[in-house]
Amino acid sequence: MIASVALGVWKRSRTALCLLALTCATSQMAAAAGCPGHPDALGTSRTLVVDPREHPRIGTMQYAETLPLADHEVVLTFDDGPLPKYSNQVLAILAEQCVKATFFIIGRQANANPEGVRKVVDAGHTVGTHSQNHPLTFQKMSIEQAKQEVDQGIASTLAALNGDKSKLAPFFRIPGLLRADAVEQYLASQGIQNWSADFPADDWRHVSPSRVYDLAIQRLEAKGKGILLLHDIQPRTVAALPRILHELKARGYRIVHVVPATAERPATPTDPQQWQLHPPSETVAISRWPKIPNFVVAERSMLPAPRLSHLDWQNSELSHGVRRPRAIPLPPQALWPLPSLSGQTTAANALPAPAANVFKIPEGVRVTLLATNSPVKRTEQMAAAPRAAEKVAGAISARSWVAATPSRHAAHQVPTSRGGHGARGAAKHAAAPSKPNGRAVRVASLKKR
Ligand SMILES: [Zn+2]
Repeated sequence: MIASVALGVWKRSRTALCLLALTCATSQMAAAAGCPGHPDALGTSRTLVVDPREHPRIGTMQYAETLPLADHEVVLTFDDGPLPKYSNQVLAILAEQCVKATFFIIGRQANANPEGVRKVVDAGHTVGTHSQNHPLTFQKMSIEQAKQEVDQGIASTLAALNGDKSKLAPFFRIPGLLRADAVEQYLASQGIQNWSADFPADDWRHVSPSRVYDLAIQRLEAKGKGILLLHDIQPRTVAALPRILHELKARGYRIVHVVPATAERPATPTDPQQWQLHPPSETVAISRWPKIPNFVVAERSMLPAPRLSHLDWQNSELSHGVRRPRAIPLPPQALWPLPSLSGQTTAANALPAPAANVFKIPEGVRVTLLATNSPVKRTEQMAAAPRAAEKVAGAISARSWVAATPSRHAAHQVPTSRGGHGARGAAKHAAAPSKPNGRAVRVASLKKR
């Protein structure tokens, strides 16, 4: 029975995989068909329109969200250009494969090579910016400096595009991915989408083109889809790129071109969970763990703190002057077994008996008796702490309520006075009224119940 069910599931899974492979192959063929003169090209499978205001930070290298890509979809990005010597070669390689990418331009490079920026746009790629001078200090510079870097980079790139804002995407990548809260907030306030990445290929390091290729493919395979970070100013990238694109096609990957939403071009409809790299799914192992019930608290941005009364605190409403949010009452008992306090749990699972000196009352205690007629007997605790018991028993004799004056330095300890009264001192003060700041306490541990 189980075997036949498993066989059925396997057959359905295989059918689904075949359909998926067929879809991928069809998509690839369609993409290649749109590349005249290059029938074997990788091509660009689709265009994704995004609204930066809805998703201001993307790229799982740093953020919770990334582009809403399907499995085996890849977005290519190139930073730090344009640098004609290498950027032009990258453009030629992409053109040969009819692949569209996103370029993050450095303002200073745009000033030096404005024609290079126009070439990128004219080839149909998306152009974003990457600061004016590419300082690797965004994480620690002042926000005024950061704003200047961002704004000047945009102004320089726009100048290269003759001020045509329609040719510049509100996409920005922080140099070195050295993010800072203030920078992210500024970008979001300007409606600029902050692009991290899903994986780099380390092509800015002193590694071989073969290593760049290996890292690009390995890291893509590890995630199954995502934004690849490359640099169009590096000779090793130029050398590795043809092989990377060829391998992407061989492995069934598809290229997605990303453009910003405009009034005439609305964002591609997506579900929020698509912006997660691997949204929870019934087909992945992690979703098989028990899911958290949909309590009302699940809709809150912050989980409520337990009431302090649940912790047996005296003031249940205020702590440090801050009113806690309303909390859902906790169950009276833990729903899981309590761990043993030590490795030597007794059969009765009992707590260890308190040490005798727990009940010790130090020298110099000042005890003032209040009038009462309740008799007090010696207890086991008193027997266990003979010295303290002697003193207190002599002082309280037939009375059970005492008023003890707390120490000025140790409110949590048994109170002592400056004079160092012992049991006789306590008896001496038996009839004296308690001081105004004295706290009446019941010597519960001394009274046998
Ligand atoms: Zn860079």
